[in-house]
Amino acid sequence: MKYLIASVSILIFALWSCDPGPEPDDHTEITKWQDDKTGAVTITYDDSTINHFRVAIPLMEELGMPGTFYIITGAVPDSEHKPEFIGRPVDEIIEESGRIPTNEENFFERASAIRYLGYEDVHHYHTRAGQRYEQGNFEEAIAIIDEGYSNVREGKYAPDDDFGAYLNSVLYVEPGTELITWEELRSLDGDFHEFGSHTVTHPYLAIMDEANILFELERSREELHNQLGRAHTFSAEAPFGTEDERVMEYVYETYPANRNRMPEPFLEELNRASQEEPGESEQEYVQWQRGPLTDTPMELMKSWVDTTLAHDNIWLVLVFHGVEGIGWEPKSEEELNTYFSYINEHEEDLWVATFEDAAKYVRQRMYADLRSLTDGDRLRVDFTHTLDEWYTLPMTLKTRIPAGWQSVVVAQGDQSQQPEVRSDNNGSYILYRALPNDEPIVIEQAG
Ligand SMILES: [Zn+2]
Repeated sequence: MKYLIASVSILIFALWSCDPGPEPDDHTEITKWQDDKTGAVTITYDDSTINHFRVAIPLMEELGMPGTFYIITGAVPDSEHKPEFIGRPVDEIIEESGRIPTNEENFFERASAIRYLGYEDVHHYHTRAGQRYEQGNFEEAIAIIDEGYSNVREGKYAPDDDFGAYLNSVLYVEPGTELITWEELRSLDGDFHEFGSHTVTHPYLAIMDEANILFELERSREELHNQLGRAHTFSAEAPFGTEDERVMEYVYETYPANRNRMPEPFLEELNRASQEEPGESEQEYVQWQRGPLTDTPMELMKSWVDTTLAHDNIWLVLVFHGVEGIGWEPKSEEELNTYFSYINEHEEDLWVATFEDAAKYVRQRMYADLRSLTDGDRLRVDFTHTLDEWYTLPMTLKTRIPAGWQSVVVAQGDQSQQPEVRSDNNGSYILYRALPNDEPIVIEQAG
């Protein structure tokens, strides 16, 4: 709000000092959330297991709620970009590991390659090293990778080129479990729901070298672009909820928005592990992530919704994994139904939006320049922002109108609407949707 007031005041001063034409005023603002609601809820799913699409989507559509689905693109059977190690031949790396112990210099290459050595059951070295590294224990991570290579050199594992065992382990599914296909994803309503990237193979990116981090981020973006269209390349979630700074820099370069981290000067981020209560924040917005697990009680899940409703600045981002028995920490269809119905009971006050739409809304609002003028018996609003071509989400504007205006027409370009005239202690106003960086908005009395 401060930013808006500041830019409007500068404009008022600028116009007052040089332009005797239409009179500037401050009769218009962008509402904090779409349709002037109290808070926002985003429902996301990680790992693209089959029941996201067969169970959760039908439930959500029944209630008119969009979801965001982070896809492991290399786990979709008909993908163009299959799991792949980018680098030297792995035999060379194995051979070298016999001469040079694993150290800080060669760690990222070896940790990237170890899932691709061509032996059965060695992927757990990558997983364990990733966990230790993320916990800040680099020494132990190095030791785990070193042990893995040593066991491979000593012939402890049978040759096997199947990457499927690793994918089954991260998806938490039994071998042979049905997987989602691109054809089925294309049959879903991609204008309503958002699909985003969860990388090609769901690795611990923090222990990988640059070439392999880029492969995971860029090839999965390319796959989503080619299979589902550019609209589904806006947001990503780097696996295992990583907040590793080196990884984040690559993600920011590849995707406009990232669920792991979204550094903005106006946004406080409380991640899934945070114990902080969002009500304490002084920030314009708080993104509050909560990840319901199998044992998370319904009452606790409902309390997150209640907390969101008790403030005006909370964007509740829910992170689901398994659904109805398939995937990590699954929630049942019945629980999802109960929970989504509870959210839906508050639809007057809660904006249920994809991650993409909510991210766009808060950014567009905070980087907006709103100029409003009274021009004779018409009001005029110029609505622009400084963001790039991704940011074309229609937003809710609230304009104060003169007392006595019973009925109003709002026109932008060749679009026009007649919003309901509302009133509060400060007088009459209207709420309407408008497009940024488009034609000026003109408001006048109808009839
Ligand atoms: Zn995941």
